[in-house]
Amino acid sequence: MVKTNRIALVTGANKGIGREIARQLAQGGVFVIIGARDPARAKWAVEDLSSQGLPAQSVQLDLNDDVSITAAAERIRAEHGRLDILVNNAGIVDAADGPPSMSSPEAVRRIMDTNFVGTLAVTQAMLPLLRQSPAARIVNLSSSLGSLTLNGDPASPYYSARLIGYNASKAALNMLTVQLAQELRGTSIVVNSVSPGFVKTDLTGHSGFMTPEEGARLPVTYALVGEDAPSGQFVEPSGETPW
Ligand code: NAP
Repeated sequence: MVKTNRIALVTGANKGIGREIARQLAQGGVFVIIGARDPARAKWAVEDLSSQGLPAQSVQLDLNDDVSITAAAERIRAEHGRLDILVNNAGIVDAADGPPSMSSPEAVRRIMDTNFVGTLAVTQAMLPLLRQSPAARIVNLSSSLGSLTLNGDPASPYYSARLIGYNASKAALNMLTVQLAQELRGTSIVVNSVSPGFVKTDLTGHSGFMTPEEGARLPVTYALVGEDAPSGQFVEPSGETPW
């Protein structure tokens, strides 16, 4: 096993923003563990990094499968003994999501299960490993669409984006950030919600203003943030975001 200073787990790192976060962290000297639900896609992502001279390994991790989450934590414990960075990146949208009057409740349940409950489960499983780090960082990939304030502001560009399932899942994720940051006060673990911006990926149907490389920058900055790091914040590329 390659010895480097820090060890990071990035969930959903086989494509999109997560793949870029993994690459940029590896470029920064972090040993990256690619979390992916499909082992073949995970293997491909590791090979892609290896071909660029960047060491990485993969772990099978499905946010909707508690057994895979427990097994991933156990494997990281056995092979590394700790985790310094957890990037909760994996997330979904759903074609049957929409405004509150029309969205399919089943779609909302699927989205909440992955984006909120699954992320909570991964975080709980990794916390014992993060507690072994001298200064652990948790980055939750949120969205400005999860801001209650912006959803209610007619002047906001997000005002008309009424996706009750997705937006609520990111608001719930933000609640995890706030409560966990409070719970971890006095420890060396910090946790923040980071909105990457509007990024061209499969999730957005390749609309958006930013490349995945650009979208990964702020999450990576918060993953590598140094001493006296803020905790319990909600930020986007233009600055702090209202909750
Ligand atoms: P993406 O290209 O669709 O990638 C999503 C990743 O999450 C994929 O690796 C996917 O794996 C994985 N994933 C989905 N469900 C999973 C599950 N149950 N278990 C494990 N992995 C799962 O999306 P993206 O745009 O990069 O989004 C990454 C994160 O940024 C998401 O949390 C998203 O909400 C957030 N975000 C994105 C934007 C944007 O403009 N793109 C804006 C704000 C926030 P598979 O390949 O197996 O499906």
